[in-house]
Amino acid sequence: MHDGADLDRGLRLDAARTGRDALGWIVPNHALRRAGLAAALARPNVRLIDAAPAVQAQTTDALARLDADRGALPSLRARLLAAADRRFSAVRRQLGIGAEMGDFGRTMIVARVHHRLPHGAIAHECFGHARTLAMLPLPPSPDGSHASSAVLTVDTPEAADLLGLPPAGYAAFIAREFQHQLGPFALAGERHAYPLVATWAHRFAACRAALVGDAAVGMHPVTAHGFNLGLAGVQTLAALLAQARRRGQDIGAGTLLAAYDREHQRASRLIYQGTNAVVGLFTDARPLPRLLRQAVLRGADRLPPLKAAIARHLTGTLDTPCLTPALRIS
Ligand SMILES: Cc1cc2nc3c(=O)[nH]c(=O)nc-3n(C[C@H](O)[C@H](O)[C@H](O)COP(=O)(O)OP(=O)(O)OC[C@H]3O[C@@H](n4cnc5c(N)ncnc54)[C@H](O)[C@@H]3O)c2cc1C
Repeated sequence: MHDGADLDRGLRLDAARTGRDALGWIVPNHALRRAGLAAALARPNVRLIDAAPAVQAQTTDALARLDADRGALPSLRARLLAAADRRFSAVRRQLGIGAEMGDFGRTMIVARVHHRLPHGAIAHECFGHARTLAMLPLPPSPDGSHASSAVLTVDTPEAADLLGLPPAGYAAFIAREFQHQLGPFALAGERHAYPLVATWAHRFAACRAALVGDAAVGMHPVTAHGFNLGLAGVQTLAALLAQARRRGQDIGAGTLLAAYDREHQRASRLIYQGTNAVVGLFTDARPLPRLLRQAVLRGADRLPPLKAAIARHLTGTLDTPCLTPALRIS
């Protein structure tokens, strides 16, 4: 992690002494989606209904009901509805659950780039004056070109200008931002833009309904934890459902959903608030916050125990209590 693109200074982390080969892996979103779909289709009791967006969710003490667009399907009825329909969840609103929303006024532009020099499997996060650039190493392209994912965060008006640049102009801009440390860049795909809005649902559960994934907590991507947190929530809910089923209890019971709400809020709050604090400190271009973050990065780089703890946290080898396979419902 660097202040600006000065790669000689900043906080350097590696996987040494974590017992792992790497600090982490970059997994493209389409690969996650494909794996998730394959896992769902492999289960005989999962029925996939696509091309029929849900438009209306309603719950009563007895059951949950979901209706598809223009009556494309008969209503779905179940003892429990789990909503995972994005951070701007329509189902959340229909359930009467409000959400705290923080619009950062910034947009993240993600693009695959080719470069002349090898990246050495090192990820860089460069906090500049008004921009943040992450260079994330990717495997070589089929033609052998060195490849990275360039993730640029800028104010939304500047994002519109940058998206309007021709591919070569954008690649040259990114190379300049990275001070040409990997040689010249060429764009190797589309640019994808994501306006940055963090969301926190006021409750993660309602009568016969649970919010999972970004519908519960939509994180700023800087700490790269949103998807992981969504999986943790699914794990918590699944453990509670399995426990209720083993005991012959109602899987949509209020006590079960209250336990999910409590546990997932407990697991998410610190990382959500911590991430927002990191965003505040690391994207503030004023001189004082800049000095502070330079001090944080350089100071932390001189503290091997702290660096080791961060590396262990990133690799999941930190000795922290993990979720119990089955949570007690009180
Ligand atoms: C630029 C960027 C980088 C990120 N990087 C990381 C990272 O490095 N690590 C990490 O852990 N997380 C990362 N995240 C966060 C991660 O992408 C999200 O947390 C994750 O995608 C949330 O999954 P989800 O299924 O809850 O929601 P989504 O991925 O938003 O999926 C919601 C799905 O619901 C569907 N849907 C919506 N409405 C309806 C409806 N009415 N009926 C039927 N279907 C509907 C949508 O079509 C979509 O398929 C990043 C996010 C962004 C924007």
